[in-house]
Order: sequence, then C-alpha cells, then structure tokens
Amino acid sequence: MGKRYFCDYCNRSFQDNLHNRKKHLNGVQHLRAKKIWYDLFRDAAAILQEEQSKKPCRKFLQTGQCDFGSNCRFSHMTEEDLEKLSTQVQEEKRAKERQLDGAVFPLGTVDGWLEKRAKQRGTAVADSPLAEEESVFQYPPGWPPVQELPPSLRAPPPGGWQFPPNLHWG
Ligand SMILES: [Zn+2]
Ligand SMILES: [Zn+2]
Repeated sequence: MGKRYFCDYCNRSFQDNLHNRKKHLNGVQHLRAKKIWYDLFRDAAAILQEEQSKKPCRKFLQTGQCDFGSNCRFSHMTEEDLEKLSTQVQEEKRAKERQLDGAVFPLGTVDGWLEKRAKQRGTAVADSPLAEEESVFQYPPGWPPVQELPPSLRAPPPGGWQFPPNLHWG
C-alpha cells in the first residue's frame, strides 16, 4: 500500500496519488470544508460586509436547506442573523478601541501621550480639593513622633536645609 494523504480540512485520508489528490482538492466537499475552516478565522466585520452585499437565498430561507451550502452566492443569513452579526461587529470594534485607549502611547506618538497626560493632570488638580494636601510630606503611619526621629529621617524644612554660610565638608 502506498502513502496516504490526510486532508485536515475534511478530516479524512485517501491513497495519495496525483489523480486522487487533484480530484479531492477540487471536490465540492473539500472546498466547502476549507471555506468553513477559513471562515472561523475571518473577522465578523468582513463576514457582515460580504453577507450584506449578497441577495438573500430564497430557497434556504424558505426551506432551511440549500444544495450550495456555504458556496451559495446568495446569503443564508436571516435578518436576525445579520443583526446579531452587526452587534458583534460593534462590540469587537469597541473592544479594539478600548485596547487602543489603554495603550501607553495613544496614536503612536510621544507628543500625543504627553499632551494627554498633561490634560489628565490638569483636570485631576482642578477636580480634587485634596490635591494640595497630597503634595505635603506625610510620615509613614506607625512612625514615632517627629521629635524622636533621628535628623536624617526628618523631612527637610520648607525651603530646604539651612547651612551655616562658611561650612566646609570634611
Ligand atoms: Zn479535503
Ligand atoms: Zn443558497
């Protein structure tokens, strides 16, 4: 027995020779299986666009069956199907936009990012009455009273440490 050819799309195998292969790869069943496979990876927007450009398949919509299956040049989608698909497209679009919003560099430029950050900071200060307080140094909770801290752990006085004018570091 010779080699066998396994077709992933159709999930079946046959004896591998030129004749069989050609026959299988051009067969209706194989083409249908292949299309279904690729449809899984197309995005909803592309499918919606394609379906909307087709006329409805009357036979399929009346009887629920059509010999052409997914190769039919008419659309097998009902109004309801199209509506669902269009909702899905909207959701996918929003999800993509959210992803872009969360990116570190929106619009891909540092300038855009800096501008956005400046705006965010501007509104944050204006909106929050606590903004001023937050900038004052706070000792960590649980620390002893300030007077008991070694000088190196004390916050500098307003305006920074004062040094005697003729101090020389050793
Ligand atoms: Zn096949
Ligand atoms: Zn049809």
